[in-house]
Amino acid sequence: MTKTAPPVEKNQTIELTFEDITHEGAGVGKIGGYPLFVPYGLPGETAEVKVIKVKKNFGFGRLIEVKEESEDRVKPPCNVYYKCGGCQLQHMSYEMQLEMKRNQVQSALKKIAHIENIPIHPTIGMDDPWRYRNKVQIPVGSKNGELITGFYRKRSHEIIDDMARCIITDEVNDRMVEAVREIANRLGIPHYDEKNNRGILRHIMVRSGQETKQTMVVLVTRKEKVNGLDTLIKEITETNPHVKSVVQNINPERTNVILGNKTKVLWGEEYIYDQIGDIKFAISAKSFYQVNPPQTKKLYDQALEYANLSGNETVIDAYCGIGTISLFLAKKAKKVYGVEIVPEAVSDAKENAKLNHIDNAEFFVGQAEKVMPWWRAQGLQPDVIVVDPPRKGCDEALLEAMLEMKPKRIVYVSCNPSTLARDLRILEDGGYETKEAQPVDMFPQTTHVETVAEIVLKV
Ligand code: SAH
Repeated sequence: MTKTAPPVEKNQTIELTFEDITHEGAGVGKIGGYPLFVPYGLPGETAEVKVIKVKKNFGFGRLIEVKEESEDRVKPPCNVYYKCGGCQLQHMSYEMQLEMKRNQVQSALKKIAHIENIPIHPTIGMDDPWRYRNKVQIPVGSKNGELITGFYRKRSHEIIDDMARCIITDEVNDRMVEAVREIANRLGIPHYDEKNNRGILRHIMVRSGQETKQTMVVLVTRKEKVNGLDTLIKEITETNPHVKSVVQNINPERTNVILGNKTKVLWGEEYIYDQIGDIKFAISAKSFYQVNPPQTKKLYDQALEYANLSGNETVIDAYCGIGTISLFLAKKAKKVYGVEIVPEAVSDAKENAKLNHIDNAEFFVGQAEKVMPWWRAQGLQPDVIVVDPPRKGCDEALLEAMLEMKPKRIVYVSCNPSTLARDLRILEDGGYETKEAQPVDMFPQTTHVETVAEIVLKV
């Protein structure tokens, strides 16, 4: 059998019309059936493209010039968008972003789970899809002897030196990074030098409560002793009354991991507080906390609606993290059991339950796939199970345990449509039916999509 050679060659410049878009946001165009993936190309557009990689069944191209623009093409408002890579969709109208995310869920359910003909609602977006992130952690470097802060260029460890701000970051945090950098610069605190594992200031991390307007500043340094630290703290806190906590994290290792093991409160409180709906959360430097609380509220309200609680139910929240969903559920259920693998997250969950005077939620450390069968052996009979697994989806043992426990309802919160679809197939084969799904945009301008699905036991 003779193989047909790809119809394009590397470095060739071609004209291409995009028909589709991948879930990484690249335009897909075909030359005689051979697909080429081109970052920043939008469906409906015709563009001049340089072929940069040719594989047997597909290739990659670089967008040189758009000849016919889509109505959904917008000028990215960020001046470093094409260098940074933190956002992938700023060249696309927000309406199209939302539609693309819904399509992604729809196509995964169809292709992977063979689930069609169920309502997949339009993605719930934000009224203002900018400046939503409540946490920023940014590397520190230098240029011409002055400290600079900026994200790394795509696929590199080189700091973008003309990044003045990040427009998906809460403005308060953006300004705080700038203030800390300026003071540190004036005090002559050296930045960390990755190549030689020398210098001091590695990252500036800032998180703020969007409801409470409290701010925590975390200085990640290579060594504990930093000349000028007292003056730095004094200047930060005197001029920024919203700062409630200044923390030092010491990371002496040569590593990409941002935070080291040792954390020290330098000034003020160990925690800042924030609120999602009417639930309060205490947030320390190292705790996990959702980065977009208003959208989290929308996602979890939908999860709660799908859980359909009347107040008498026993509920399991698997992969419960710091208990965000569990605490929402607890207000409407008889009892909630949360399970989570990270011990620190479980202690945060317990603390957060106390903080909110919730006494019908219990939290356990362990692998959900091991703890669930054990609960079952103990005779625990949940009416509803909620799962919110990481990108790789649910463990098979956990899916089996759910099928054996036979809850009337399962609510699946997912950050990856492909693994959601894979797991829904298993649940459907085990006697469940997916009723509907709701995508929610937690991370505007990026390709991430969160989905919540309603699953019920077939009678
Ligand atoms: N709903 C949570 C976040 C869930 S993110 C909240 O808002 O806090 C997914 C969580 O699953 C993470 O906290 C991760 O630590 C946890 N996890 C990953 N693998 C796990 C496993 N095998 N068993 C239990 N938890 C796990």
